[in-house]
Amino acid sequence: MVAAARVTLLGVAYDASSSHRRGPALAPRAIREALDSGAVNGWSEMGCDTRAPGVFGDAGDIAADASPEMRERVEAGVAALLARETRPLVLGGDHSITYPVLRAMRSRHPRLAILHFDAHTDLYDEFEGDRHSHACPFARIMEEGLTDRLVQVGIRTLNAHQREQAKRFRVEVHEMKDWDDARAFAFEQPVYVSVDLDVLDPAFAPGVSHREPGGCSVRQLLRALQTVRARIVGADVVECNPAQDPVGLTPWVAAKVVRELVARMVD
Ligand code: MN
Ligand code: MN
Repeated sequence: MVAAARVTLLGVAYDASSSHRRGPALAPRAIREALDSGAVNGWSEMGCDTRAPGVFGDAGDIAADASPEMRERVEAGVAALLARETRPLVLGGDHSITYPVLRAMRSRHPRLAILHFDAHTDLYDEFEGDRHSHACPFARIMEEGLTDRLVQVGIRTLNAHQREQAKRFRVEVHEMKDWDDARAFAFEQPVYVSVDLDVLDPAFAPGVSHREPGGCSVRQLLRALQTVRARIVGADVVECNPAQDPVGLTPWVAAKVVRELVARMVD
C-alpha cells in the first residue's frame, strides 16, 4: 500500500440538515476545482507546497444522502483515515457533519480540544424539531464529552438559549465584537479546527447559507490559523454555499483556508 499523505481531504457533499438554504452539497466539488486550478500554485503562505507528493491526499467523497446512516458513514470514513495515520481535512457540507467527525476524532485522541470559527455557536438543543440540524452539532459534541475544551471565535448571533447552553457546557465564547488581532489561541491538547465560512464578513464570502454581517476578514482568519499555538490533528471547512455566490468567490476563499490549514497540519 502506498504510504498515506500527511493530510487527507474527505468530502461530505451533504446539506440536508440545513435549516434555511440548501447548497453546501455543491461545495466539495467547487472547492476542489479551486484547489486544483492552474490559476494558483499550491504553496501556502506558511511555506508548505500542498501539491508536493505525500503532503495532501484526497480520499474522495462520502456517499451522503439524507438518511441517519449518513452520520455513521462520515464517522467511519474519518476513522478509516485516522487508522492510516493521516490527518483528516473534511470539506462540508453543512455544519451538522462536524458531530460524527468528532466521534471518530475522539476515539483516536483521548486528549482533544476544538477551535471553532463561526458567526453562530451551533449550540441549539434542537432546531425546528431536529436535534441533528446544522444549528446543533456542538450541543451533541458537548453532551457526549467529545472534547476537553471548546473555544468559539467570531460569534455574533447569541440569543438567550445559546448563552445558557454556552454556560451549561462551559464553552469559551469569543464574540466578534471583542475580536483582538493580537490574540493567539493556545492549547495544551491536540486541536481540531472547525471553520464555518460564515465567520467571515459576507463581503469576503457571500456564498454561505446564513449571511451575518460584521464578521472578520479573510486576513484576520488566516492570521488566527497561522498563529494558533497547538498541534492541529484534524479540521473541517464547512457551510460554503456556491449557490449563494454569483461571482463564485467563496470556494476560492475556502481553498485558501484549506491550504493554510494543511500547512499547519503537516507540522
Ligand atoms: Mn456553523
Ligand atoms: Mn454559521
